Amino acid sequence: MENINWSEFGFGYTKTDFNVRCTYKDGKWGELEVSESDQVNVHMACTGLHYGQQAFEGLKAFQGPDGNVRIFRLEENGKRLQNSCHGIMMAELPLDIFEKAILKAVQLNKKWIPPYESGASLYIRPVLFGSGAQVGVKPAAEYTFVVFVMPVGPYFKEGFKPTDYVIYRGYDRAAPQGTGCYKVGGNYAASLRSGELAHDKGYSAVLFLDSKEKKYIDECGPANFFGIEGNKYVTPKSESILPSITNKSLCQIAEDLGLTVERRPIAVDELANFNEAGACGTAAVISPIRKIVDADNNIEYTFGEEAGETSLKLYETLRGIQYGTVEDKHNWNTIVDFE
Ligand SMILES: *Cc1c(COP(=O)(O)O)cnc(C)c1O
Repeated sequence: MENINWSEFGFGYTKTDFNVRCTYKDGKWGELEVSESDQVNVHMACTGLHYGQQAFEGLKAFQGPDGNVRIFRLEENGKRLQNSCHGIMMAELPLDIFEKAILKAVQLNKKWIPPYESGASLYIRPVLFGSGAQVGVKPAAEYTFVVFVMPVGPYFKEGFKPTDYVIYRGYDRAAPQGTGCYKVGGNYAASLRSGELAHDKGYSAVLFLDSKEKKYIDECGPANFFGIEGNKYVTPKSESILPSITNKSLCQIAEDLGLTVERRPIAVDELANFNEAGACGTAAVISPIRKIVDADNNIEYTFGEEAGETSLKLYETLRGIQYGTVEDKHNWNTIVDFE
């Protein structure tokens, strides 16, 4: 086996050996197919290209010090993809096909799974889109599901360091009763311009407010927001937020650690009450926040140069569960069988 330099991976695309596909035609999902190509041949009039019929997932597999490879919350991701499909009128993928396809993609690319010591992991990207031609505005009759995997480096190369976020009221990511709660590409397209503006000004991402009143905290770039206030873990409740599985897991861990969990609307000025704040998602687990700049009002909310102890404890517990060094009491991991 060739030598792979695990330290060179960031979060860019890396071609691995195999991907797994499945197509929906004539009202049913077909057999899984394995491909060595990273190209997909689609009809130029497909709804995935024209009308945004497209949803994706993001999850990870981790090799533990015991040699086992664990996929974190496989079933939860499958259910969320079904929900996204339902939301934008795509054929729902049965959970058993989702799980089989992912296990197969991981098994076939075994040599690309980073060893424990590297701090890296295997990122799994399932995507489902309307591949049938349709020029009138209607859902497609054909869908394609693809799973590819690639090694990704540790998110924090320089340690668990807080970064800055910004509020711009001139941009929305999703409408109150729109598609914000589905993991669809359209929400990302809507956030790119403000996201790039934020990056250019030295911020990690935009902290979006609710689109209707601009009063409550909504999505934190491509992640969920949480704040720590004393013994409380507080995270926004909103119909335009993507239900992060990392956030859901952190809520459970917070409860297990004896914190009180509140999921409720969080007014912007409440930011001043938090001792710690963070963005959470699969990529980083937790990305601690140093400060949030309300650029429209010239107000800064600061949370410290170093990550707070509660954020650190939550982060370490979740990472420990993923790598198999902390007990998986809620059965979140699926151990991959390589027989
Ligand atoms: C994927 C995603 C998240 C994070 O979800 P996880 O399941 O924790 O990875 C948060 N916000 C948005 C907008 C997302 O697309």
